Amino acid sequence: MHELSLMEGVMEIVKDSAAQNNIKRVKHLKLVVGKFSMALPDSLRFAFDALAGVEELFQGAVLEIEEKDIICLCQQCQQRTTIEDGFHFVCSSCGSIRLEIVQGRELYLDYYEGDEN
Ligand SMILES: [Zn+2]
Repeated sequence: MHELSLMEGVMEIVKDSAAQNNIKRVKHLKLVVGKFSMALPDSLRFAFDALAGVEELFQGAVLEIEEKDIICLCQQCQQRTTIEDGFHFVCSSCGSIRLEIVQGRELYLDYYEGDEN
């Protein structure tokens, strides 16, 4: 389950930043997860709950996950197609398979909020 190490990495970033900014308690953090990133939101949540439970900094923190659809730009006709099933990479306008993924690979911490005491 690589979501666990992904989540650890995200929480390390928050921890470092919180330490620098005198934040004692994280209230809210938001992740952006593309549907082509191969990370499952449910698994990320599970990992977060497991990891946050033993860190005072993250007690009571709310994890928000925004999922991004897979969007491809057709190299043939320049139309954008949303790949609904994350599997059939075919242009919905012209049927070409020469697609470039322009959204859906992202996996990053958008922001976090916390308190100084
Ligand atoms: Zn096309």
